Amino acid sequence: MKNNKFTLPDLKYGYNDLEPYISEEQLTIHHKKHHQGYVNGANSILNTLNASREENSEPDIKPMLKELSFHVSGHLLHSLFWHNMKPEGQGEKEPEGALADAINERFISFERFKKEFSKTALSVEGSGWAALSYYPDSQQLYIIQIEKHNQYLIPNCYLLLVIDVWEHAYYLDYKNERGKFIENFWNIVNWEEVNMRYQSSL
Ligand code: FE
Repeated sequence: MKNNKFTLPDLKYGYNDLEPYISEEQLTIHHKKHHQGYVNGANSILNTLNASREENSEPDIKPMLKELSFHVSGHLLHSLFWHNMKPEGQGEKEPEGALADAINERFISFERFKKEFSKTALSVEGSGWAALSYYPDSQQLYIIQIEKHNQYLIPNCYLLLVIDVWEHAYYLDYKNERGKFIENFWNIVNWEEVNMRYQSSL
């Protein structure tokens, strides 16, 4: 039986390259400890499920599948998050091209989009994410709010830009000031990557 494993993706920049907006300590712990935890959690559940099939035993399916959704979604969202950020000063400061056109069409202006996205992130109850997504069925951009890693997702969506607003993403640098973290996030968005995701979802 194939036993492919999830693995922690490398960052495309150094741990201190997102400073002063995300500190080396904050980014290192977030990537090496928290994200690694979701990778390990997902692999462990898949191993247990595979083993139970080989042994023909009956695991407690319901809680395992709940955890599987949580860990795999956590892994995939973090992978998107690392790559939709870049060190300040590299590349575009705002979206350009097809993505800029789509944002202006849907949200009237980039400023309005930023405001809505920030408010979405700020108002997540407890732990979760804000995401700009594209739905091919309706050919529209939506901003969505995800609780934990996996609640309120809409099937068949393409996640283009995500921000992690779990406390583990910002607490060392910002304490309880989630709003400041969100404000600073705009300095390190990798718009080329977000634009590429948009174009390949069309
Ligand atoms: Fe996180």
